[in-house]
Amino acid sequence: MQNFTYEQASTVDKAVGAATGNGGRFIAGGTTLVDLMKLGVEQPPALVDVTALPLDQVEAIDDGPMKGGLRIGAMVRNSDLANHPEVVKSYPVLSQALLSGASPQLRNMATTGGNLLQRTRCPYFRDLTSGACNKRDPGSGCAAMEGHHRTMAILGTSEHCIATHPSDMCVAMTALEAVIHVQGTKGERTIAIGEFYRLPGVTPNIENALEPGELITHVELPPAIGTGQVYLKLRDRASYEFALASAAVVAKVENGHIRSVRLAMGGVGTRPWRAHAAEAVLVGRLANAVNFQAAAEAALKGAKPHPENAFKVELAKRCVTRALKMATA
Ligand code: SF4
Repeated sequence: MQNFTYEQASTVDKAVGAATGNGGRFIAGGTTLVDLMKLGVEQPPALVDVTALPLDQVEAIDDGPMKGGLRIGAMVRNSDLANHPEVVKSYPVLSQALLSGASPQLRNMATTGGNLLQRTRCPYFRDLTSGACNKRDPGSGCAAMEGHHRTMAILGTSEHCIATHPSDMCVAMTALEAVIHVQGTKGERTIAIGEFYRLPGVTPNIENALEPGELITHVELPPAIGTGQVYLKLRDRASYEFALASAAVVAKVENGHIRSVRLAMGGVGTRPWRAHAAEAVLVGRLANAVNFQAAAEAALKGAKPHPENAFKVELAKRCVTRALKMATA
């Protein structure tokens, strides 16, 4: 591992200052970054520890455009967020997604801000000896295209990268239309989660809308649009495994009709995948199997599978239809 400097920040301003202009990285739970540093994939010259910052609260929002929603500090641990009474009661899709990810030990360490910045588990990205990877080494190629790609993405891919976004939490937050608050040297700003993650395009190494040195301070969830909420995750084994396909559904049903619905998918996209076309199919229609199937077809319409992951198209459709059935029951 390459040498690096380390300092613990006592304020957000000091943290931002310490990580700006020097290639510095923030470290909190360390469940992604430390792994990648040990592997040599990430070699930041400076680490800024943000664990002492006062960003570990979950609070009700009682004024402004998000009134009735929830403010979640970036340092809130995944296990604390999953088990927070207000999350369990009003945002069960988020609680379910968090509890389906990683292991209890990792959830006790991982933070909300860190989970938002989780990096892909593409094996070629994580192994310096495994060949070309445009995300790790821009312009070098993509070994996954002709190599093993069973777990790779089928939506939002480019000819330069087909890596899957690994997070469960971010899929639920996408369905909940979370807003991410960040602070940099130019001040504070907000980014809707739907605009936070970039498609790989020709620059898969640029994964999100953060500027160098910007720190995620908290996330705000608007009031949920409905109580019908489900996170369904399909994977190779029942725990400690990433999704092959997952679906987060938030729905409101009246007299058997879907009044409003939000659908996001995981395990199939290069970013947490909001399925707007599927939502359009469902709104105002009966909550029944025919319409669920039509929504699933719409959700996967643009899929571009490779030979080893072609099964994900049908798997994701079944995941969506089942999640919709559960959420609207
Ligand atoms: Fe790298 Fe993306 Fe190709 Fe994986 S899919 S090898 S992360 S460029």
